[in-house]
Amino acid sequence: MNIILFGPPGAGKGTQAKYLVKKLNGYQISTGDILREEIKKDTDIGKKIINNMNEGKFVSDEIVNSLLKNHIFDPKKKGKLIFDGYPRSKSQAQNLDIILNSSNQKIDYIFFLNVNKETIIERIKKRKILEKRSDDDLDTILKRYDTYLFTTKPVLDYYSKNSNFHEIDGSMEIDQITNKIKAFLNF
Ligand code: AMP
Repeated sequence: MNIILFGPPGAGKGTQAKYLVKKLNGYQISTGDILREEIKKDTDIGKKIINNMNEGKFVSDEIVNSLLKNHIFDPKKKGKLIFDGYPRSKSQAQNLDIILNSSNQKIDYIFFLNVNKETIIERIKKRKILEKRSDDDLDTILKRYDTYLFTTKPVLDYYSKNSNFHEIDGSMEIDQITNKIKAFLNF
């Protein structure tokens, strides 16, 4: 089962992705984590993206799409992909369709975790203390939220008419959100 977790930064996509990975024996495809790993390993890609990441700006489609491809075409991950943080624009959504098609796969479920701006700011402030992410300071959060509104949220036009699209109130407690997801998946 391939699943997209969609929503603004701080919606809880990563937390629910980790639950689904365990439950479905799946693989979390977090483009944010994949990109942070490149920075940690100080690779050529890491050196190219570090400034954009720290400023909360998008990394280029060329880089994100090429890193993503390796995971989608990995035979052990086929049909077990839990996307968290991808797609983030209409062009990425189109690219995902093309890559999935060419590897004989499809998206089975899309869960939109909808959360308002105030809740996001509070959550990310807490995450900054716990995870010390360099892009979690207030200025960067606000920038990332604006990018979400203008570039990522329009992806909903692309998915929301599909019968596999489900909106969930992402301001609920973690377990309540998990229960909603479980109900949609008939667990
Ligand atoms: P995240 O961990 O999903 O909050 O992503 C952290 C940062 O990684 C973002 O602010 C972007 O700089 C970069 N990033 C993650 N996913 C993508 C993507 N799909 N497209 C472009 N940049 C991305």
